[in-house]
Amino acid sequence: MKQETLFIHAGAEPDIATGAIMTPIYQTSTYVQEAPGVHKGYEYARTQNPTRHALQKALAAAEFGKFAVCFSSGSAAADAVMKLLNPGDEVIAANDMYGGTYRLFTKIFEKYGIKFHFINMLDAEETKKYINKNTKLIWTETPTNPMMNITDIKSVAKIAKENKILLCVDNTFASPYLQNPLLLGADIVLHSATKYIGGHSDSVHGCLIVNDEDLNRQLLFIQNSCGAVPGPQDCFLILRGLKTLHVRMQRHCENGEKIAYWLKSNPKVDKVYWCGFADHPNHSIAKDQMRAYGGMMSFTLKDNSVEAAKKVLSSTKLFSLAESLGGVESLIGHPATMTHASIPREERIKNGLVDSLIRLSVGIEDVDDLIADLNNAIG
Ligand SMILES: *Cc1c(COP(=O)(O)O)cnc(C)c1O
Repeated sequence: MKQETLFIHAGAEPDIATGAIMTPIYQTSTYVQEAPGVHKGYEYARTQNPTRHALQKALAAAEFGKFAVCFSSGSAAADAVMKLLNPGDEVIAANDMYGGTYRLFTKIFEKYGIKFHFINMLDAEETKKYINKNTKLIWTETPTNPMMNITDIKSVAKIAKENKILLCVDNTFASPYLQNPLLLGADIVLHSATKYIGGHSDSVHGCLIVNDEDLNRQLLFIQNSCGAVPGPQDCFLILRGLKTLHVRMQRHCENGEKIAYWLKSNPKVDKVYWCGFADHPNHSIAKDQMRAYGGMMSFTLKDNSVEAAKKVLSSTKLFSLAESLGGVESLIGHPATMTHASIPREERIKNGLVDSLIRLSVGIEDVDDLIADLNNAIG
């Protein structure tokens, strides 16, 4: 079955009690048992909830995986992956990653004795240099935030397999419509479903998708033991979001492409970071592993001052100044003072994250209106 059909039909069965076509929001904490131990498979809502189960089935199908495990946020999903490890284990992670994941690794898990190597993963071969007998996990994100770097998932997966190391790919920026890491050899796919999958900026949610039965069992054990489960209302919203993911993504990609080229031709704009350009450093890999290039991009101004960036950031009317991404409405952000403020300036600049860098999450509004808004703000 094609992905577009799966997004709408996977996990969706008419409600057994009423025939409701949409999985109801089972807003309950517990389930009545007929006799001690005699029940319908549902005992307590941290462990089982029918709305969550429907969503887990749908998300697994969306990534062409066997199992999905849902969490109260993308960060809680990342936390669950780390809890597969033991003190003394080592992790190789791409150095250009979501700031919250970096914080989780360095501020929480380092103190439990897990060692991290943050490396430049633009060349997959680089990974090999950091592998030793303690290496248990490779972590990557592609495209990255906010520099839009691309990791070659297939090559990293091959290295991970040869060394019996798990590979987790944060697929949030691409969404399951543009890229499916399990098909490229990854073991775990992570989504902050808060972003494209939910797609309407109205819910915080995370999930992990895997093929391996034992890995699924371990993650379900962590989900139930640690308890970072999503509420049924959020599961319902994410399930609803998934049904239109492909249509939204098509428009995000169309609008994204037009805006990327428009920015590139603007005399006040210096660099534009978008993985769809033929001269993007890993464009050929993006072309191989992604269906299209999405609506996320960053750009710098020829006037590389915080003031110049601030003027643009405070002048747009349709692009709202906010963190997050992937919703139907366009957002604009300033990584240096917002999402990446916790990274020392020298470090940021080394990675290209200069003061005037502006990040866009291009929404699905009319593209001419969006361009007019940017044109007005960039001046
Ligand atoms: C937002 C985000 C996360 C964290 O997800 P939350 O739902 O905010 O906890 C992880 N990875 C990436 C790439 C993100 O954009």
